[in-house]
Amino acid sequence: MKIKTFIRCALCAVATLALPATAFAEPLVLDNVTLVDGTGRPVRKNMTVAIDDGRFTLVAPTVAAKGVAGKHVDCTGRYLMPGLMDVHIHLGGPYNPDKNHDQGVQALASFLYAGVTTIYDAGNDANFILTLRAEERAGKILSPRILATGNLVTYPGSHGAAMAIEVDSWPQAKPALDKHIAEQKPDIVKLTLEEHGWGSRPMIPLLPVDLMQEIIHYYNAHGIRTTAHTSSELRATEAIYAGVDSLAHPVIQGPISADFVRLMAAKKTPMATTLTIGEGYSRLVEHPEYLDQPLYAAAYSKAQIAELKSKTLAEWKARSWTWWMKLMTPIAQENLRQIDAAGGIIAIGTDQSVGPAVHREMELMQAAGVAPARIIRMATLNSARHLGREEDLGSIEPGKIADAVLLSADPTADINNAKAIVAVIKAGALVDEDKLPMAGGAQKRRRNF
Ligand SMILES: [Zn+2]
Repeated sequence: MKIKTFIRCALCAVATLALPATAFAEPLVLDNVTLVDGTGRPVRKNMTVAIDDGRFTLVAPTVAAKGVAGKHVDCTGRYLMPGLMDVHIHLGGPYNPDKNHDQGVQALASFLYAGVTTIYDAGNDANFILTLRAEERAGKILSPRILATGNLVTYPGSHGAAMAIEVDSWPQAKPALDKHIAEQKPDIVKLTLEEHGWGSRPMIPLLPVDLMQEIIHYYNAHGIRTTAHTSSELRATEAIYAGVDSLAHPVIQGPISADFVRLMAAKKTPMATTLTIGEGYSRLVEHPEYLDQPLYAAAYSKAQIAELKSKTLAEWKARSWTWWMKLMTPIAQENLRQIDAAGGIIAIGTDQSVGPAVHREMELMQAAGVAPARIIRMATLNSARHLGREEDLGSIEPGKIADAVLLSADPTADINNAKAIVAVIKAGALVDEDKLPMAGGAQKRRRNF
């Protein structure tokens, strides 16, 4: 027994050295906390949550957990929810030629600061994102857990081709996919099934559905999940029947049919929300003051905010896409609300590159008429399901990886309370906010323990 404990603590010490965040040699025990566990179960008051070796080890009423060994922290008046996730980002912007490693590190820090502990990069400069993924996994940077596709896969000239492996025939495409798997080790492969021809966008080539099916089958046979960019009910349905494991966007081109709602409830193919990318254009033009909110002021430098409020605002105001997306956002919101209400799996994704966007995404779901408790499930357990990681992530249950956010206000009363962050825990380690390389400058620790 003693030897076993010694070995475990020795391993702990190694983990502590690798993690640039506070890790405890002894278990962390949060007492008297109100638990929002991510499963959708009702909120439970006066609970104890114990964390050891990076995992949740105990969830029990505090009265029954007095004897638990470890560093006890009284969390009276606090709320604990799982770490948030963003299942669709493009770190540094998908097509930004000026992005560099250090800006990527700053953007990653902004996710942790906003309570986001897992992200999926849905297409990027492969070297840029995969270098950061390797650094995150080696414990060299303070970052949320990174899952990535590296390059995405599509037909020549189709949506996202600029950051894609382009394939046009089967089985001739196999060597390119083998190379992708061997060199980039994609966690989840992103495909696109999109011909444009809607809003103000001209038509482009479309990935043939039979080719898409071969690609999905091939990656799945290598143990790799797939997700697909689609924007219409037709293409979303085709992607589902081609076997895709999740959808990277809602239906945005128009209202969905009752049949599609029933299909999504029956298939339970997880669908990402990504409202913020489309709504964000008119939001900047009409309400640039949102950038003064604390999470944004921490996530962007003063120069970035000044540029957004002047140059970017003027550009976005002048283009028709801004106003098209403003028009279509309420339709996408209602589509998502209906699928959720029918029992489909909605996950939180922003298609953005900054932590606070996750909170905007949740605000837009609340504005759509979804209850805050359901939105938290979307951003946690449903998102884990989207990423194929529901066995070890997404909820506060014994045995799962200890990703969590401690709040000073009830997020099930108003989703805006999810911003009232006291502490962020990733893999059992408290994040030291004062050490995060934030673009907005050094931040103070928000916890007092
Ligand atoms: Zn995207």
